[in-house]
Amino acid sequence: MTCPYLAYRSEAGGESFDTERAYCTAADRFVQAMRADVCNDRYDLDHAEDCEIYLAHADGGTS
Ligand code: SF4
Repeated sequence: MTCPYLAYRSEAGGESFDTERAYCTAADRFVQAMRADVCNDRYDLDHAEDCEIYLAHADGGTS
């Protein structure tokens, strides 16, 4: 399962790219390549445990 906040966009916040990139709708910014592994639960990573942005939103903190 991937993170529910993960989206793919080619444009946001004044940045645009030729291809779609991983975008975090919780943080409203593009995701760095290393963190995209967490967003997609690749390897032994889990967005629900390893992403502080997800955890902050899951707690109902900042949204
Ligand atoms: S950065 Fe965190 S909250 Fe955002 S899409 Fe990735 S795992 Fe989800």
